[in-house]
Amino acid sequence: MDVCFDCTQCGRCCHDLRLTLSVAEAQAWAGRGHRVDLLAEAWPWADEAGADDPALQWRAATTSSASVGDVPFRINLRLVAHHDGPCPHLLPDMRCGNYQDRPRICRIYPLESRPFEAMVPARRKCPPEAWEPGLPVIERDGVAVNAEAAMILAAHRAAQVADVASKARIAAVLGFADAALAGEGLAVCEVTPAALLEAIEASEALADVPDQNWTIVTNRAPTYAMLSDLDCPVRLAPAGQGYLASFEDQLAA
Ligand code: SF4
Ligand code: SF4
Repeated sequence: MDVCFDCTQCGRCCHDLRLTLSVAEAQAWAGRGHRVDLLAEAWPWADEAGADDPALQWRAATTSSASVGDVPFRINLRLVAHHDGPCPHLLPDMRCGNYQDRPRICRIYPLESRPFEAMVPARRKCPPEAWEPGLPVIERDGVAVNAEAAMILAAHRAAQVADVASKARIAAVLGFADAALAGEGLAVCEVTPAALLEAIEASEALADVPDQNWTIVTNRAPTYAMLSDLDCPVRLAPAGQGYLASFEDQLAA
């Protein structure tokens, strides 16, 4: 199946976004004085999971193992540039003021950055006229057509794998050991750009990834009860600062 697309330069994709960055990109972004958050989600995990499933193999490759209580999990950490409203690099005429150094995720938009996920135009910020039939084909049968875009996409994904241990070290230096249950939301560590830069520098001096005592954060009483029954460290918290929720708060059973 072909997906036709041409950018209208509307600038919508440069507003109200969380851009997934590599560690090097996060360092550059914070180095320019802009905010980068660390987000965490946790997948319950059996040892043999993913043996013959490429999607689960990808999940394993982009997460680190952790025990929450005695229950095995995989922790996915994401460094994200967070901006409400316009990106700090967006110029008044909707051009990128950081064009040469913009992150890979900006270079590949609106392609899907995650493997094994179809690009869904309706979930993109691009207006309908950007997807008209007859425009250049951007994706064919789930694969980026443009060789340069495909290369950038591959590099973005490779960094997600290569950075797993670095991000775990950064989380440990920051003392961040909260994670949402995958699918329910994301636990958020908000730091100043300066604090993140310090943490990255300090993390580079660590030879190993320190053990962390992870806690699951949830805004759903049934999840809290289920994890408590398993003796998993779990905390009930409302959606808001520190917790990006996919569901409405349900703090009472
Ligand atoms: S870095 Fe440039 S392309 Fe990326 S969101 Fe900001 S303004 Fe847009
Ligand atoms: S939202 Fe889509 S059409 Fe608009 S500038 Fe971004 S990539 Fe181009």
